[in-house]
Amino acid sequence: MKFYPGYQYVRQVTEFEKESDLIVQKGLIKDGKNYRCQRCNTTFLAHENCLPDGRYYCRECLLLGRITSSHYLVTKPIKKPVKKAVTFCFKGKLTPAQEKISQGLVQNFIKQKNSLVYAVTGAGKTEMLFSLLCYCLTEGLTVAFCSPRVDVCCEIQPRLQQVFPKLSVGLRYYGAKPYEPTPLLVCTTHQLLYFKAAFHLIVVDEIDAFPYAHDKKLHFAVSNALHESGATVFLSATPSEFEIKKAQQQAGLFCLPARYHRRKLPVPKLVRIKKQSLPLTFRNKRVFLQWIKYLLLHNHILLFCASISQLKAMEEFLKKEVGKDAVGSVHAADPKRQEKISDMRQNAFQIFCCSTILERGVTFSNVSVLVFEADHQIFTKATLLQIAGRADRKGEFSHSEVIFCFSQMTPALKGAIKEIKELNQKAQKAGLLNEV
Ligand SMILES: [Zn+2]
Repeated sequence: MKFYPGYQYVRQVTEFEKESDLIVQKGLIKDGKNYRCQRCNTTFLAHENCLPDGRYYCRECLLLGRITSSHYLVTKPIKKPVKKAVTFCFKGKLTPAQEKISQGLVQNFIKQKNSLVYAVTGAGKTEMLFSLLCYCLTEGLTVAFCSPRVDVCCEIQPRLQQVFPKLSVGLRYYGAKPYEPTPLLVCTTHQLLYFKAAFHLIVVDEIDAFPYAHDKKLHFAVSNALHESGATVFLSATPSEFEIKKAQQQAGLFCLPARYHRRKLPVPKLVRIKKQSLPLTFRNKRVFLQWIKYLLLHNHILLFCASISQLKAMEEFLKKEVGKDAVGSVHAADPKRQEKISDMRQNAFQIFCCSTILERGVTFSNVSVLVFEADHQIFTKATLLQIAGRADRKGEFSHSEVIFCFSQMTPALKGAIKEIKELNQKAQKAGLLNEV
């Protein structure tokens, strides 16, 4: 039986395995009336998850393969790192501010300290990590680059493969092929549940995103998959106050308030539309369509809706008003999701109606952003900041704008606009913006 180092196998342990150098842990540990799963750290009442044969099992990580009270987690420890030559192909150039953070991350890692990179949308977070990745890979250390979002993983893997062309860069998410070890692995945070003490460096992108932000099991997965001599780098454009404070206390906070292209973040315009449901009243319809026409003068529009029903109604409404072929839509359960998103990358639609699945991790050129019903509870401050961050991401300045349609002011709306203004001021002060 072949065991790949760092990967946790669920086994009924044989004598042979007990005697070898493998780390063998019980799958579930009894704790009074409860059981705790050693793979995902979830505690559950024994009688709730009982099998007919009397064994217990963990329901929380069932999708990874059932683990019961008769199972063991078997892991082969990772090997001692051996230095090696690594081909590093990065043609871009970091700005001085990016370079400073990039070097800081390497220094922090050498001191075995965790870091948080708090950088605005479009700041070039991934590029700032290349030096650290290169350092680790040259030292022969193992690296996992993960995100809670599959779309983000799929976008990052080819980019890293380009930068390290001679290395095999793995990609794992639900439904991906069986595990083959690679020095650099891109995966969803869920996939880390399969590993134990496997990586010297774990990068966690989008730490404020669903489901990582509020899922203790995934936080455990990160710490459990990290080797005792390793460190973690967290990335976010919208970290919580708690995360920022924690990083500050550990002297691991790196803040970059400006975008790569040195332009300000567009400050959202507020447009009050009293009753925000479709069909719009005559007056509201006129106001709304005026804004749509105004935005279309310079750019395409990404139009965010709060619910699927609203999104479908909006698509129908705009098709009648603007033209059948000019409007498209996408949501999480859309079977043509990937196809439509890639069409939109080619600017196939003048107006693209979407749910919050497009709030992060995707870059379209020449788009303005409009949020309909921006005072809906689904639009938290972080979500609004991420959505606003879709505008003016790359290329030449195209008069990209952000519009929040609302009927009642909410703390999220206020907070998002305040934060954007503050980040712009901070960037201006630090000399990170071009004079306009
Ligand atoms: Zn479990």
